[in-house]
Amino acid sequence: MLAPLGGQPPSSRKKSGGGVSRRALLIGGGAVVAAGTAAVLAREEMRRAWWRIPGVEKPRKPGELDYAGATWVAASEANWRRADRPDDFRIDRVIIHVTQGSFDSAVRVFQDPSHRAATHYIVGQDGRVVQMIRELDVAYQAGNRSFNERAVGIEHEGFVDRPKDLTEEMYEASARLTASICARYDIPIDREHIIGHVEVPGTDHTDPGPHWDWDRYLKLVRRAATAPPTPSASASAKAE
Ligand SMILES: [Zn+2]
Repeated sequence: MLAPLGGQPPSSRKKSGGGVSRRALLIGGGAVVAAGTAAVLAREEMRRAWWRIPGVEKPRKPGELDYAGATWVAASEANWRRADRPDDFRIDRVIIHVTQGSFDSAVRVFQDPSHRAATHYIVGQDGRVVQMIRELDVAYQAGNRSFNERAVGIEHEGFVDRPKDLTEEMYEASARLTASICARYDIPIDREHIIGHVEVPGTDHTDPGPHWDWDRYLKLVRRAATAPPTPSASASAKAE
């Protein structure tokens, strides 16, 4: 399922080709060399920026993660759309959800092709994080096409009417994840850019619900954004 962008055959993009070389030939030998150098430089530039061209995708490896603190479990391909963000769509929102079910049931429905919805990540009450869709791709998470295209979505294990479901571990783990997303796409850490599903225009969903503590969450995200990087596994093993 390719995004309806790009995919143009190369021939149809070249509308004014040949102009430079024809002129260079008329001017003479020196100009031909200069034009040749320019062409080589242009080709170099193209090679470096090849993945920015619509319809050309960045390389992908199965199971690859965008966030090192997550483990990978693939969602059904019916629940997301292949894309090449942030080059085809700019990412400028994080959308916070609450699952209305257990962690395992959320994983199961995102693997179910008939569900037709999923988020990129699920955070458990114990702080575990699963990534199910690459951030490159558009998750069907918010019931709003443009918000789906611009957002990374995070589900949180629990029910909107059970404040005890929103655990310290979950807030902390989710805040670290959101801080990482905001850093990678240069998203401001504020309530305009970190929103609840309920705030997506046109939605009939109420999550993350009245018990989600936005002040606390944003404080944790800001703290995680400014915290020194956590030591690697080998470094902490040595310290122990
Ligand atoms: Zn939701």
